[in-house]
Amino acid sequence: MDVSLFLYNLIKAMAMRRTRLRSIRRVPRSEILALQRRRLAHLLEYAAKTSSFYRRRWNARVPQPEDLSRLEPLDKTTLIEHYDEVLSVKDLSLDDTRKWLNGKQDAQPKKYIFAATSGTTGQPLVIPYRLNEWREGMAYIIRSAELAIEGTWGRGSDPLSLLYLMRKRPRIAGVSTLNPIHVSARLTRSFRAGIVPSLLLSAGTPLEQQLEELNRFKPTVLGGYPSAIAPLVKAAEKNKLHISPELIVTGGETVSQALRRLVRKVWGLELFDYYGLAETLVIAGECRRHQGLHIYEDAVVLEVVDEQGKPLPPGKTGHSVLLTCLFNKTLPVIRYDVGDILSVNEEPCACGTPLKRIVSLEGRKDELLVLRRKNGQPVEVHPIVFESALLGMAEIRQFQIDVLAGEKVRITIVPHGHAGDTVPKALSALSEALSPLGIGEDVLQIRTATGIKSRRGPTDKLLLRT
Ligand SMILES: [Zn+2]
Repeated sequence: MDVSLFLYNLIKAMAMRRTRLRSIRRVPRSEILALQRRRLAHLLEYAAKTSSFYRRRWNARVPQPEDLSRLEPLDKTTLIEHYDEVLSVKDLSLDDTRKWLNGKQDAQPKKYIFAATSGTTGQPLVIPYRLNEWREGMAYIIRSAELAIEGTWGRGSDPLSLLYLMRKRPRIAGVSTLNPIHVSARLTRSFRAGIVPSLLLSAGTPLEQQLEELNRFKPTVLGGYPSAIAPLVKAAEKNKLHISPELIVTGGETVSQALRRLVRKVWGLELFDYYGLAETLVIAGECRRHQGLHIYEDAVVLEVVDEQGKPLPPGKTGHSVLLTCLFNKTLPVIRYDVGDILSVNEEPCACGTPLKRIVSLEGRKDELLVLRRKNGQPVEVHPIVFESALLGMAEIRQFQIDVLAGEKVRITIVPHGHAGDTVPKALSALSEALSPLGIGEDVLQIRTATGIKSRRGPTDKLLLRT
């Protein structure tokens, strides 16, 4: 796709944001819920009519919005197995997406945009979007910036108008993936469109090179996976990275409180975290109050559910989360089991945005590690437990966590200068963090190194298992 088409898409998406997706803070919650219900009714009817998979599943009946919580959830394996039947269009197939994954660009027909899931575990899945659906996804992202930018770049003029952007000329650097098939790289390309100076780096690039490029580019907006932002803010703390960002955004992995504290300390900023998937694009993001991630309820229905797929009341942490995407009708995903562990708050937010919030994102399912307690019982641990213990230690320049066979965890530390007592200090910090979980320090192996080449998956997300 050439630049002019990208630009066209971007302008269309911005126009959509201004007309259809009005400033979200001026809309009462009842209006959002009514819109969500209308769109859900339409999606269910559309899927029942055009997708043979749903027609069969629902016995040719059109479910009503209030039936949603009783519909059978859809998992990724089932979606891949029945991909061609789930599709609502006849001119696409699983085979086309496989060809596209294997580098055959023209397997993606011109009227669609394909985006691949991360595939850190299992097989990658390709989600097709019609161009107008993709633009709508872009419009939600543009609108989400509204919640973040105001207060950062000042009130007054509409912070998202094209004119404002051109005058402000933000310099955007992203440290995530250069893999062109992945949804984050595809979205970045859609937004670049030649208007905004941008630099895209792979999180797998050696740190020295990242620092060199960022020092040269001097971004005012820095975004990326939390595991990619962490070594950068540590480098800035030690005067190795000379940038003055005005906005830090993260997504794609769980962000720890320790990283938030470090960003606050070093750059004096609150970071903005976003939640998204290839299946739905970005669907939740923080406002400037940083009291959770507002869920774009006009774009998705998000249900926190128990093990039986039954919705739980607000405030309860679920076994999983089911997503229904209201704007992709090409491949309708209805009650799609994402596996993430989170809880939701429906109380009004002080920012005035009438959207409910994800208040705790305890972990993406594919990030959890299984270790053993001292009593031999298995326990699921999120890597941010380790990260939180190490990130605040000024002696540590970089670190890597590897899970070894036999449920051991190897921590590789790159100290600033001489190791000195870095290892015993790290061991004590880690023991303190693991002790409440009943895990002894015997699971830990700590070593020092002069550099780290992090192992990352096909989309440069951090891989922890060796
Ligand atoms: Zn808010």
